Amino acid sequence: MQVHLAADAPHQAAIRAALIAYSRANTYVASQFADAVCSCGGREFQLEVDESAGAAVRYCAVCGDGHAIGDSEDYLADAEVEPCFCLCGSPIFEITVGVALYADSDDVRWLYLGCRCPGCGVVGCYADWKNEFTGHRALLALV
Ligand SMILES: [Zn+2]
Ligand SMILES: [Zn+2]
Repeated sequence: MQVHLAADAPHQAAIRAALIAYSRANTYVASQFADAVCSCGGREFQLEVDESAGAAVRYCAVCGDGHAIGDSEDYLADAEVEPCFCLCGSPIFEITVGVALYADSDDVRWLYLGCRCPGCGVVGCYADWKNEFTGHRALLALV
């Protein structure tokens, strides 16, 4: 499957590369990706995550809109999300989600939450968890 990468989003390519490297070490290699873009077009977000609950919420730095990433909405009731910060202290990130799939399947096996700090450029996997969503396209459409 071709991954669509907008010409104006070179930074997301760096996040994808970081997620591939991280996920190789986790056995389940990320193969499908989606970049977080707010409905207002914003690409920078504050991020709150509860890795053990498998839930993350992003808040647009431009319009403030909050959005539960992927299927996080289903797990937020039992989650205690905490804000993420870059090593430099900034709470603002560009976000890309990667998923690993079951072999010969469209179904999700593991989810990786990748971020890049637009302030200092540091890229990393900020959280990952087991996610068994049926059909990666539907899940990634909710990033
Ligand atoms: Zn927005
Ligand atoms: Zn930073």
